[in-house]
Amino acid sequence: MNCRSKGILLVISGFAGTGKGTLVQELLKRYDNYALSVSATTRDPRPGEEDGVHYFFKTKEEFEQMIQEKKLIEYACYVGNYYGTPKEYVQEQLENGKDVILEIEIQGALKIKEQFPETLLLFMVPPSAQVLEDRLRGRGTETEEVVQKRLRRAVEEAEFIEKYDYLIVNDDLDTCIHEAHEIIQSQHHRVDQR
Ligand code: 5GP
Repeated sequence: MNCRSKGILLVISGFAGTGKGTLVQELLKRYDNYALSVSATTRDPRPGEEDGVHYFFKTKEEFEQMIQEKKLIEYACYVGNYYGTPKEYVQEQLENGKDVILEIEIQGALKIKEQFPETLLLFMVPPSAQVLEDRLRGRGTETEEVVQKRLRRAVEEAEFIEKYDYLIVNDDLDTCIHEAHEIIQSQHHRVDQR
């Protein structure tokens, strides 16, 4: 029997290049209880990224209008670009009983937790700092300058990890997916969530 009337709001964060995107895609593929929130951003699309699928790509002016019209639950500036979560889709999916995944950075995650204290915050880390650097560079989609900025940002973000509910180490992807799903499922059984 399913006692819950609403889905859970989940935040998955992690240093750039840790494999959050892959984790999220696998959760969506393997289980039918998840819905992914598509964010708005002012950064340029990477090769292969589609508008409305990976992000809603916006100009700075369009993004600032969304802020003014209160269409975003949260937004943050990350390495020179705006990123934000559109409100309407998230609300709809939660009402439909879906567990809604927000793949967002730390500032946004903390704003979400403030507004919705029941949000589950997961943080994904690589098995070592060297692996992080190798993965980020190996992606080959960013310039060296951006790689360096993202690495610096990772160091700044590290002090906020303790604000998260769970840490997931991405050593082996399958284990990681399984662990994340189990953690999320156990949240549905918490007495204070009912
Ligand atoms: P990327 O440019 O690599 O796609 O994303 C950069 C960072 O922005 C990642 O840490 C990603 O999780 C975060 N991000 C993506 N969408 C949002 C959003 O809607 N809000 C916030 N606060 N961060 C986001």
